Amino acid sequence: MSTADGSVVGATKIVDRGPNDRRWNLVIVAEGYRSSELTQFASDAQSFANTLLATAPFDGLQSAINVHRIDVSSTDSGADDPAACGGSGAIAATYFDASFCNSGIQRLLLVDSASVLNVVNARVPEWHAILVVVNSTVYGGAGGAVGVYSLAPTAALIALHELGHTAFGLADEYEYWAGCEIDTDRNNHPALEPSEPNVTVANNRANLKWRDLVAAATAVPTTTNANCAVCDPQASPVPAGTLGAFEGAHYYHCGAFRPEFDCRMRNLNAAYCAVCGRRIRQTIAPHLPWSKTKAVPGWFGAEDQGAGIALADISGNGRPDLVVFHLDNPGGENHGYYRIGWNLDALGDVTGGWSDVKPVPGWFGAEDQGAGIALADISANGRPDLVVFHLDNPGGENHGYYRIGWNLNIAGDVTGALGALWSDVRPVPGWYGAEDQGAAIAVGDARGSGQLDMVVYHIDNPAGENHGYYRIGRRVNFGGDIADGTTAPKAIPGWFGAENQGAGLALSDISGNGRMDLVVFHVDNPGGENHGYYRIGWNLSNAGDVL
Ligand SMILES: [Zn+2]
Repeated sequence: MSTADGSVVGATKIVDRGPNDRRWNLVIVAEGYRSSELTQFASDAQSFANTLLATAPFDGLQSAINVHRIDVSSTDSGADDPAACGGSGAIAATYFDASFCNSGIQRLLLVDSASVLNVVNARVPEWHAILVVVNSTVYGGAGGAVGVYSLAPTAALIALHELGHTAFGLADEYEYWAGCEIDTDRNNHPALEPSEPNVTVANNRANLKWRDLVAAATAVPTTTNANCAVCDPQASPVPAGTLGAFEGAHYYHCGAFRPEFDCRMRNLNAAYCAVCGRRIRQTIAPHLPWSKTKAVPGWFGAEDQGAGIALADISGNGRPDLVVFHLDNPGGENHGYYRIGWNLDALGDVTGGWSDVKPVPGWFGAEDQGAGIALADISANGRPDLVVFHLDNPGGENHGYYRIGWNLNIAGDVTGALGALWSDVRPVPGWYGAEDQGAAIAVGDARGSGQLDMVVYHIDNPAGENHGYYRIGRRVNFGGDIADGTTAPKAIPGWFGAENQGAGLALSDISGNGRMDLVVFHVDNPGGENHGYYRIGWNLSNAGDVL
């Protein structure tokens, strides 16, 4: 009946993807297992971990997830199963006092969650979600501060559903409380909007929480219930997986809507709907480590002298596309090319295939020492422009140049502006240095002025130690010119290494404080193996300095 009815034996990390303070930690706790049954608990916990990691969207987030098991023994097996709900009447002396038949509903299986939290805080303080496994084959479970599930034949499916409540704040999408044929007080949902992301009282497109996922051709509401006294018996009028607004959700026959006809939060045998899947990915993705290294297919060329990448939603479908640029050095004149990997998913994989390789016209120069690209809507017409930068090495002093391919269409082709596909080639003023070992460009509101700026970065390679510098072209106007002059080159402090073989640059408000941060990347070439390093200059000032 209480923690006097057993003991905490210990914690074991059964899926180890990295330090607990960097990963998303699920803790599975034993309830109603006698000491002699803890081997069975270990098997039950491992079985659920295996199911979880094979289930979408967790399967794509595996490298972010640790799973722990806490062995807790109880005096008796099972849980209280009151006869009042049609149960066996069993009373079991267990550590967390599990019982079916809460609120008069047999399937509602609860434990003493304060005791569970005490045990987990002591053993795995970095926990993000807790599931208690109750050693009973009676069907039941619950969400709440800790998820609870039993070992009914559908145990893993119950656990995945309860985890939706406990770890991700998802609502039940079914439209009954005690049962469709039993309820008499579940006709119309109260007008108050539920806080959960996967149910709503809104019956119009503009107020749907998930409106960005609903196709224009899908009717909203997508289904309505003709008789609010009962659960809606109609089959789905749209193909499975269609996002819309389906009436009947959150324990009410009418007045509440769910995003898809079916979902694991409605029916244990269904997959999570897209709205629930998105919430799960958003919650766990911040715990991902570096991705696997992903190859760009169809590469060509044996020598290059520069490369760059940039991201933007070029196809306009709400997913970022990846533009990859390289500077081919085949002997004789160099050539610049770009290609586009379409529709990066939440894990950074290209899901829409790659474009053909597109040449940048009018290239000149046989030797370069760096290159980069940036995407920004410089012409302010709603389409991204492609800025291509290269560092020419003609013998003697180097020179940096950029050009702009105007208005990429949804296929990624330059479509032009003001009668030209590409701008003329423009020098970056005041260049110096005869040898460089990397260069890059970024375009964005670097100074917090509300205008686009152009940040150019290069690695100078004099005799002895190298040095990294950036400068900011203030206010790139609609024609792509730097309108308010260029700052002096600013040295990046604490540089190290005498040889480099590449560089990259990005602008983003990583700290989320409204000021741009500057991410500087370089490839160190110390002899032997190379190494890539990045550093962040926080909060660029209005003058473009890291203070
Ligand atoms: Zn759902």
